[in-house]
Amino acid sequence: MKPTHIEHIGIAVKSLDESIPFYEKLLETKCYALEEVKEQRVKTAFFMIGQTKIELLESTDPESPIGKFLEKKGEGVHHLAFAVENADIALNEARETGIELIDKQARKGAEGLNIGFLHPKSTKGVLIELCSK
Ligand code: ZN
Repeated sequence: MKPTHIEHIGIAVKSLDESIPFYEKLLETKCYALEEVKEQRVKTAFFMIGQTKIELLESTDPESPIGKFLEKKGEGVHHLAFAVENADIALNEARETGIELIDKQARKGAEGLNIGFLHPKSTKGVLIELCSK
């Protein structure tokens, strides 16, 4: 797997209503997309910085992965997403090198991307997402 760039950085927030105006001011750019990913029980908001996005994540359920993250760690950086040619192939390649996967196969994420996560205990404590178009 050879990433082409950082596709996005995911940041867990308690409230999009509060965080969107904050980031619009900080980054001097407008949020360009809002999307609810029902399966993950999150609402997302996106900002474009060059070719990298900032993805804000608000949980819609305290028992969801983002809900639990907020409960345990509070707001903050949640994951790094690398753009790859093909998420399924990249997940397989990662597994072959001994990395534990959260997703054995890519699934649909926000913005219609194919995404899959590597387990942070295999990646020096960083939750890494691989995504492809
Ligand atoms: Zn993401």
